[in-house]
Amino acid sequence: TGIEELLLSRIRDVADYPEPGVMFKDITPLLADPAAFTALTGALADIATSTGATKVVGLEARGFILGAPVAVRAGLGFIPVRKAGKLPGATLSQAYDLEYGSAEIEVHAEDLSADDRILVVDDVLATGGTAEASIELIRRAGAEVAGLAVLMELGFLSGRARLEPALGGAPLEAL
Ligand code: IMP
Repeated sequence: TGIEELLLSRIRDVADYPEPGVMFKDITPLLADPAAFTALTGALADIATSTGATKVVGLEARGFILGAPVAVRAGLGFIPVRKAGKLPGATLSQAYDLEYGSAEIEVHAEDLSADDRILVVDDVLATGGTAEASIELIRRAGAEVAGLAVLMELGFLSGRARLEPALGGAPLEAL
């Protein structure tokens, strides 16, 4: 479709970043293009509305850049899921494994309630580890996961298959 071509044309492939052998998908050209950024946030906001989400969770850091305008456009609140140690209030945290070592993400516990249906937004789905940990956090807070929406899915890393159990039937939309 037209939007897919527009979005793809504004994503830059950067070889050997952040380490040798990795082809990094850089979304900064897309963010700098008003037509592409508007089309992207509009399409993600449509997903938020169609999934019946009550709030948008954005994953640090590029999930903040996308998730905040999506929340505003869909008329919803925004909740940041941050790397450990950045949120000042009472948090829930979730550790997860990386290729080398591990990472930890956190959310303010009071931001999520049992009435909430959360759409998780991020730029790139790679192995699915980050999204899986965020879904786990949302569930542990007692809220429901409405779905996961990303700009781009790196299919060869099989994140979609990994996320199936965590999503439990909630949609995974990759534009
Ligand atoms: P995962 O946990 O392996 O799925 O990695 C996803 C996380 O890493 C997301 O928060 C992405 O923002 C980031 N990420 C992984 N690969 C890329 C990339 O090629 N471009 C931009 N972000 C990436």
